[in-house]
Formats: sequence, C-alpha cells, structure tokens
Amino acid sequence: METRDRFNRPLRNLRLSVTDRCNLRCQYCMPEEHYTWLPREHLLSFEEISALVDAFIDVGVDKVRLTGGEPLLRRDLPALIRLLAAKPAIGDLALTTNGVLLAEQAEALRAAGLQRITVSLDTLNPERFTALTRRHDLDRVHTGIAAASSVFGALKLDTVVIREVNDRELIALVEYARTVHAEIRFIEYMDVGGATHWTREAVVSRAEILETLEQHYGRIEPILERHSAPAERFALPDGTTFGIIASTTAPFCADCDRSRVTADGMWFRCLYASEGTDLRAPLRGGASRDELSGILRTGWQQRADRGAEARLASRTREPLVPLSTLKSNPHLEMHTRGG
Ligand code: SF4
Repeated sequence: METRDRFNRPLRNLRLSVTDRCNLRCQYCMPEEHYTWLPREHLLSFEEISALVDAFIDVGVDKVRLTGGEPLLRRDLPALIRLLAAKPAIGDLALTTNGVLLAEQAEALRAAGLQRITVSLDTLNPERFTALTRRHDLDRVHTGIAAASSVFGALKLDTVVIREVNDRELIALVEYARTVHAEIRFIEYMDVGGATHWTREAVVSRAEILETLEQHYGRIEPILERHSAPAERFALPDGTTFGIIASTTAPFCADCDRSRVTADGMWFRCLYASEGTDLRAPLRGGASRDELSGILRTGWQQRADRGAEARLASRTREPLVPLSTLKSNPHLEMHTRGG
C-alpha cells in the first residue's frame, strides 16, 4: 500500500547499501586518509536485507538499487540479487558500481536477476583517474564496462564533474559512452557528508555543462518525461541522449521518492539527513513484517526532508559535516549511505 510524506511524495525507490567499504578513494566522496568503518557484526545478512525489503514493499517500494561503498566487494552478492529478484513487487532491480570488479562478476549478476547497471566513470585519462581515486584501475574499469555492455546490452555511466579536474572531458566522455552503448549522466559535485574538500567554486553547474555541449554539438533538446528519477535527460542533434543530475544548483526534492538503508540497517529519508532510524534493532529483536512496515509507514508519513533545497538556500555553503563529526559518526558519510 502506497505511503506518502508531508509533501505528498510516495516512497517507491530504495537505495540499499550492502557495504561501506570501497576499493577506490574518490576525491568527491572519500578524500580522507582514514575512515571509521561499520562493525562487521552489525552488517545485515542477506536474509535480513530480504526481510527489510519485504517491509518496504508493504509501504510502496517497487524499485531497489544496490550500492555501497562498492557493492561488488560484498561476497556472494548474486545470492542477495536472487532473493530480491524473486520478489514480484520489485519491478526494477539495479546496481551502481565503480566497475573495478565488474568484468569478473557481470555475468553472475545478470544470471541472478539484476536488470540494470550503472558504472561510475569520471575520466578517460589514466593519470587523472589515479589523481581522483588514488588507485591505478582505469583499465579494469574499461574491461568491466565492456563486459557489462555485452551482458546487459545497455548501461548508464555516472560522471561527477569537478572544475579544473575533469570538466574538459565532457565531449570525450559523451563520445566514449556512445562506443559502449551507454547513456552518460553528468553529476554536479555535491556537498554531502564526506565531501570534506567540497567548494562552491569547484561545482560545474548544469547550465555550464549544457553550454559546453551545445557549443560543440549544436542545439540540445530537453527530453520531456514525467518521472522521479534524479537525472534530467537531453538529446543531441543526432539523437544521442545524456543526463544531468543537478542536485547542487537545481535540486529535485519536490518529486523525491527515494530513501536509503545503510549496510548495518540505518534508514535515511534524505541524503542530507543528519538523523536516521535504526531498523537493525527491531529486526534482530524479532519484529514482525507488519511491525517493521509500521515503523516505515510512520517514519515516511512524518518525512519533510528537502535537503538539497535547504543547502541551496543556505548562506554559508561549505562542506556539510566537519571531519571530526564524521570520524565519530560514520553514518554521516556518503560512502556509508550509498550516494
Ligand atoms: S536532497 Fe533529500 S529530498 Fe532532496 S532529492 Fe536528495 S534525497 Fe531527496
């Protein structure tokens, strides 16, 4: 049964983090040297995640996206995908990955029932990749994208655009996406928890991205479609489509039907929320499916979050959470919430 929040937004879309660990250290998400990890014994088992998803289904969820950290680091992930794919109410089962482990896992993910895949790719330049991620894995990402392209047919690429870092690669990335049958989405750099190096000056806005692409390709047409997905989509003169996720300069909170659960069962109703709801305690305390969905229904009905809009309106725009606070509360980190 559908549940709506204070702004009449339904709860439909669940982003499920299956681990807070990652094998990359992207500057816009994990720029620090050391992190406080979630205790392993707190991580939900696949059966616990499946039980939680059943409760979310009861309050209207029909889309699930698996995230991390890096979800492909979670051992035997296809077993979880099989559990979720077996639920008729879940009409859309997707995953976001950095692609480093994708080549060896693409077929097993597909065979388990995964429907869609998004790969994060911020640059085509090996030196820049290493500067951005502090790893040397660009080749493995390319191999992973090629494997996913052949196994899934179509895929999405996500690129976080940062000024003076990769903002001169927009056209090269559009061209690359064509070659791997992918639709690329350019994401504005967000001042979320964990983005401790974020500055307003480093943000390349939706308007600038469109201007750069229009100067090169000619007139760009917006694709008018009614949906709650974060990406606005556009078409180039030759019909090639791409997206822009402009959470920083043009927030889309009005239609937001998304919420997130961390790998240890903390439920956040907004990416910018400072407080979450612990679902692990009632789950491990023997709460029934109805009791769990009751917690979700009440929690969602009280939801009034419009975090990105509030950030846009705030005068003193600097990183959302100070480093010292992140150290004491890893749930405030974007890599723990799954972006
Ligand atoms: S900032 Fe919060 S309310 Fe706004 S779109 Fe993101 S998750 Fe939704």
